[in-house]
Amino acid sequence: MFDKILIANRGEIALRVIRACREMGIQSVAVHSTADADAMHVRMADESVCIGPPPGTDSYLSVPAIISACEITGAQAIHPGYGFLSENAKFVQILEDHGLTFIGPSAEHIRIMGDKITAKDTMKKLGVPCVPGSDGGVDTVEDALAIGEEFGYPVIVKATAGGGGRGMKLATSAEEMPTAFSTARSEAKAAFGNDEVYIEKYLGRPRHIEIQVFGDGKGNAVHLGERDCSLQRRHQKVFEEAPGPAIDAATRAEIGKICADAVANINYIGAGTIEFLYEDGEFYFIEMNTRLQVEHPVTEGIFGVDLVREQIRVAAGEPMSFTQDDLEINGHAIEIRINAEKLPNFAPSPGRITQYHAPGGLGVRMDSAIYDGYSIPPYYDSLIGKLIVHGRDRPEALARLDRALSELIVDGIDTTVPLFNALLQERDVLTGDYNIHWLENWLAENME
Ligand code: ADP
Repeated sequence: MFDKILIANRGEIALRVIRACREMGIQSVAVHSTADADAMHVRMADESVCIGPPPGTDSYLSVPAIISACEITGAQAIHPGYGFLSENAKFVQILEDHGLTFIGPSAEHIRIMGDKITAKDTMKKLGVPCVPGSDGGVDTVEDALAIGEEFGYPVIVKATAGGGGRGMKLATSAEEMPTAFSTARSEAKAAFGNDEVYIEKYLGRPRHIEIQVFGDGKGNAVHLGERDCSLQRRHQKVFEEAPGPAIDAATRAEIGKICADAVANINYIGAGTIEFLYEDGEFYFIEMNTRLQVEHPVTEGIFGVDLVREQIRVAAGEPMSFTQDDLEINGHAIEIRINAEKLPNFAPSPGRITQYHAPGGLGVRMDSAIYDGYSIPPYYDSLIGKLIVHGRDRPEALARLDRALSELIVDGIDTTVPLFNALLQERDVLTGDYNIHWLENWLAENME
């Protein structure tokens, strides 16, 4: 096992990893920008190293600074959290060259899944159901029109290098295709430096269902069920739950096994998420994330496992601490993402927190790096906390979320908490009857 791990991240996820390290008796090293000198992850780690000025490109994304921090502190492994360098194959390659262990999958797997055409092709060959569409990239508008004709409109033009919902354009008819095709390409070029696009059938009212998988890198893998993350704003998840209200045990076992077998087949190591759209009882693969997800705590809640601990174990060459048969679902968990944003427009709301009180009690977990008097810097994403609740069933989890929200105090800045108070009054949320468009429609009606 490692003696010392460096966490190449900040905020709540850095804290999350530090906590796992402490429980495992591993020393932790925090890195931080000058803007984060007073951040909680710096206070909680055993050691810390300043790695650069505020912008992420000069600090949390600075590979030489992070490697130097490992050398100075003697850290043997790096946990990347999510975002920043977590899905950067080149970074992983450089670490390998320096004899440092990356706590995550291989550079090759990150590369395969980072290119959506290659990912889809790989998954298809591994027996994972995919959205019908073009086989590979589409280079000309004539080909795009032919594919629209073949699969029937509406279709969606997507960037193979895409992420964060960018570089996606809908074409509802052949007339719209030339514009959709050229804007998707130019947006992809501008955002990712790669203008390759592919085309998929557009699904009208799917749910977003993702399967948590975990591999030991030696051909063994398990699944930890699904998360329903359909409540999204601008393709960003805001409310996640497990198990999914629309998924029964037989469906879970079937798609879970397909996913676990797929990653076992490629000797995948560590945590991964296979994302699907789910409509009329069918799963359609859209992408795989080769890292720990923001919403991993809902899975931890229902299975009672520590996914970060498992990531560290397998990275150190140890076996997973559970088999598929050990994994049994217990109750229901919900996570909400609390952002420092002002409603109704979700404008960033950085600044000083004058009062903070975290909720507690049975079944409540608050993953956050804020504290009384903390100043949220304007340089990074606006997530300031995740409130996760667990109950014996979905109604109990919902009641607990409502109760926990009534205890939470974050003063001095605006947050998205009022959104969740309002959502908890909605019948469709209470019954779990929603799809990926539900929240956008609701916001248009209630927040404009
Ligand atoms: P990104 O990597 O940019 O997040 P994804 O491929 O994961 O892109 O898609 C993000 C979101 O876009 C999905 O959760 C869904 O809301 C929507 N989407 C993607 N593909 C389709 C499709 N074929 N039909 C309908 N919606 C889609």
